[in-house]
Amino acid sequence: MKNVFIFLGPPGSGKGTQTSRLAEELNFPHIDTGSLLRQNIKEQTPYGIEAKKYMDKGQLVPIEIVQDIIFERLKKDDAKNGYILDGYPRSVEQAEALEVIHEKLKEYWNDNGAKVTAVYFDVPMEKLVERLVNRRSCPMCGEIYNLKNKKPLKEGFCDKCGVELVQRTDDNEETARLRFETYNKETKPLLDYYGNKNNLKTIDADKDIEEVWNNLLKVVK
Ligand code: AMP
Repeated sequence: MKNVFIFLGPPGSGKGTQTSRLAEELNFPHIDTGSLLRQNIKEQTPYGIEAKKYMDKGQLVPIEIVQDIIFERLKKDDAKNGYILDGYPRSVEQAEALEVIHEKLKEYWNDNGAKVTAVYFDVPMEKLVERLVNRRSCPMCGEIYNLKNKKPLKEGFCDKCGVELVQRTDDNEETARLRFETYNKETKPLLDYYGNKNNLKTIDADKDIEEVWNNLLKVVK
C-alpha cells in the first residue's frame, strides 16, 4: 500500500519548505496545487486563466479545475509508490473527492490503494501575515526563502540557481488576510475530518526550521 502524506496548515505555516525537503528524503514527488495552478497561469492555459480570477482574490479555485489537475498529476509514473500533497485537499468537499480519486487510481495502477496520513502545521495566526509578506521564492526551482529567518546567501538571489527571487503577487497584506479567511472557513474543518478518521498528526510549527524538520521526521517515519 502506498503512503500518501497530506499537509494541512494556514498560508505561511512553512509547509512548502518542509514538504519539499521531505519529498527529497522519501524520494516521493511533492505535489503542490498552488504551484501547479501558477504554472497553468504562466502558460495561459484555459485552467490558468480561470484560476487566476480566484487566486487574485484569495479564494479557492473551483473544485473541478483542481480535481482535473491533481488527477492527471497523480497518474504520472513517479507518483506510483506514494506522494506528498501540499495545499490539497483544501476543503472537506476536496477531501471527499480525493477519496474518489484514490479509488480510481487503485484501478488505474491495479494496486491496493493509499494509506493517508494528514500532518497539521500548527502556527499561531498572528505570526503568519509577517511570514507571508517576507516570503520570496525562486522562479526557476521554486526554493522558498524568508527575509527574516531563511535569507539567501546573496541578497535577492537564489542560492541554487543564482536567479533573482520574486514575491508572489498574492503575498501582500490584503490578499493574505483574505486567504486566512478562506483557510478558516474552508480548510480548517479538515482537522476534524482527518481527526475523526484517526489519521491526523499535529506538529508545533512555530519553531525554527531544523526543529520543525526533526518533529516532522518523527511523525512520518
Ligand atoms: P498556495 O500556493 O498553496 O498558497 O495557493 C495559492 C492559491 O492557489 C490559493 O490562495 C488558492 O486560490 C489556489 N489554490 C491552491 N490550492 C488549491 C486547492 N487545493 N483548491 C482550490 N484552490 C487552490
